[in-house]
Amino acid sequence: MPIYEEALYNITNCDFDSKQVSNKHLDLEMVEALNKVNDIFKEPAKYYPQILAQIKATGIKKITIASAARSPMLQYRLTAKNKAPYLQSFHMLGLAIDLEMKGKNFDFRENSNYLKHYLTLEKVLKKAGLVFSEPRSVDPNHVELYKYCLKKNPNADITTLEIKEQKVLKDFISLVEYKIESKKKSQNKLHYKRLLIDLNKELK
Ligand SMILES: [Zn+2]
Repeated sequence: MPIYEEALYNITNCDFDSKQVSNKHLDLEMVEALNKVNDIFKEPAKYYPQILAQIKATGIKKITIASAARSPMLQYRLTAKNKAPYLQSFHMLGLAIDLEMKGKNFDFRENSNYLKHYLTLEKVLKKAGLVFSEPRSVDPNHVELYKYCLKKNPNADITTLEIKEQKVLKDFISLVEYKIESKKKSQNKLHYKRLLIDLNKELK
């Protein structure tokens, strides 16, 4: 099925991929940043000697993710309820991930002694161009690229962000067109035709 064929990169077999990830796609810049994070954890003496002891103390060998890009169909189901714009979520653009956190030794929710490891992880992420963009108490494992993070970066690169949005949107449209062609039941066909009209409205 042609999901994100043009816009996003398939992360199957990447070091940070995990069984939890259902839609294995991300923006290439996010892939590069996550690989950088794992390079640092693999060879902290080489890539981040300034905080070598802190990194070793975390015991983290590599990070893995729990979710990557959100599929257009899921986003459609979410947005159909509240009429939010399709591209509001950075997950849909492949520009956000959620780290696997439960049971890890930076999960301060389970053990407050782990907060220091979480803060070290935050430094490593920053070194790789990534940021925890949501408040720690609300969404502690949600990560975005700092350069596009509208919440944290006053100089976020909005121009490039818009180009990426348009690319993803075009991908969605080709997926929906494919769905319309392959569906035999007229009820489903109608559903996708409505979706196609809405998507085309967003692609101005
Ligand atoms: Zn998230």
